[in-house]
Amino acid sequence: MDKYDLVVIGAGPGGYVAAIRAAQLGFKTALIEKRGTLGGTCLNVGCIPSKALLDSSEHYLKANKEFETHGIKVGGLEIDFPRMIARKQEVVDQTVAGVDYLMDKNGITVLQGMGAMVDAHTVEVTPREGEPSRISADRILIATGSEPASLPFITLDGERIITSTEALELPALPKSLAIIGGGVIGLELGSVYARLGTEVHVIEYQDAIIPTMDRTMGKELQRSMKKIGVKFHLSHGVKEAVNAGDKAIVKADDKKGKEVTWEVDYCLVAVGRKPYTSGLGLDKVGLAVDSRGRVEVDGNLRTALPHIYAIGDVVKGAMLAHKAEEEGIYAVEHMAGQKPHIDHNLIPGVVYTWPEVAAVGRTEEQLKAEGVAYKSGSFPFKASGRARASMDTDGVVKVLADQETDEILGVHICGPRAADMIAEAVVAMEYRASAEDIARMSHAHPTFTEAIKEAALAATGDRALHI
Ligand code: FAD
Ligand code: NAD
Repeated sequence: MDKYDLVVIGAGPGGYVAAIRAAQLGFKTALIEKRGTLGGTCLNVGCIPSKALLDSSEHYLKANKEFETHGIKVGGLEIDFPRMIARKQEVVDQTVAGVDYLMDKNGITVLQGMGAMVDAHTVEVTPREGEPSRISADRILIATGSEPASLPFITLDGERIITSTEALELPALPKSLAIIGGGVIGLELGSVYARLGTEVHVIEYQDAIIPTMDRTMGKELQRSMKKIGVKFHLSHGVKEAVNAGDKAIVKADDKKGKEVTWEVDYCLVAVGRKPYTSGLGLDKVGLAVDSRGRVEVDGNLRTALPHIYAIGDVVKGAMLAHKAEEEGIYAVEHMAGQKPHIDHNLIPGVVYTWPEVAAVGRTEEQLKAEGVAYKSGSFPFKASGRARASMDTDGVVKVLADQETDEILGVHICGPRAADMIAEAVVAMEYRASAEDIARMSHAHPTFTEAIKEAALAATGDRALHI
């Protein structure tokens, strides 16, 4: 039986990054993955393919709706949907091949197959074809990620009632799409299809979209997405979604209890994801999951067995690729006796719609609930020269700072390139900057980042300059 210092189960952004860090630290490392390719949900059916389709559909929308205003006339504009899907797959294929290269470069043994713990130091690998084999592990890292969740009364059939995985490779452009859930997946994939001309209905149980983010962001984004034709049905409780042959039929009750029915090409169920632990052998080693099916870990990402750690979507916290990565690095460095650090409050969250939404730290609603005395400063992109030049005037930046100390407590952006701009706020907050610090730093002109400076000025005594 081959023996490893570390066996990582699951090759998503959590697992494969942890394997690289482990190899850097001198661990003899094996990485087990049941899928045919490395990269997990994120690279195969998540972050990367969704962003590829978001970019393609954004190009189409701009050509269709904005080029003429810029003085560019395009004749015969058409969507070649199979080509769009094929390009998405090319991007995925290149990206997952990059992970193969990284594993090779770092001397990591990759084992294709389902990994199952048979005892506390032995993992069995069952490949798709061929016989199972066993390896011995001084340490184990569980990085098995998550899978789409559903509602108890809905059967995901992959044909008419679909998840994000199918929505990333539909055979043809749908005429209509109902999306259950106005969260990240619903709004990103809803944007893709609405931009391409599909009639998109977002049905959300709560009274706001992206309800866990700062409420201002949901309002701003909803206003923008309405402009591309998305129809929102908030405070609607879905009670049925069925495959009716050539259609999907979705039924919900609105907040007055009145039944609403949609007959659409597809129903995308996007009500969250659940941890994936089936077949992992947690019971064989006596490890527990919590009430939401997540592997229980302590503050050092260690399970009840001190040599077994767990990270990423399969443990508590936001289900984000960069959170999984940071935790993978943390776990491995901790195993190596180092003293790593993660501040989960400073893991940014991004929605890749257009405008994008990006946030770090606490929301205004959280600060209110916690009774924290805070100041708030906002700046709208319609007052930004850079935003006017690029026709991206929707959205706002909101900076929240401690009333007394001026320390930044949260930054929330709905606007152009918010995903990239949020890094400034993360750096500032990691160094415990004040709003005044950002307000006094030079921001290149003209850039979208000036809106962050202006919001910081607004938070420190109503000193915004350009409004
Ligand atoms: P995963 O990526 O889920 O990887 C786990 C891997 O383990 C999988 O490959 C699985 O096959 C394998 N596995 C499971 N059990 C076993 C076993 N017993 N043996 C062997 N292998 C096993 N996050 C972002 O931060 N930004 C985004 O833009 C973003 N977009 C997304 C878009 C979509 C449509 C979806 C669905 C998700 C998106 N996410 C995004 C979330 C992101 O994909 C996850 O948070 C991230 O992939 C979690 O990483 P992970 O390593 O914990 O798990
Ligand atoms: P989500 O938690 O973001 O959103 C689910 C939404 O469904 C919520 O708004 C919720 O109120 C709503 N909902 C729940 N039950 C409902 C019901 N019965 N009827 C109507 N609405 C209902 O989950 P998601 O969008 O499925 O995404 C899953 C995970 O993947 C998220 O944790 C997210 O972090 C991750 N993800 C991240 C990104 C990104 O970082 N850009 C992109 C996609 C997915």
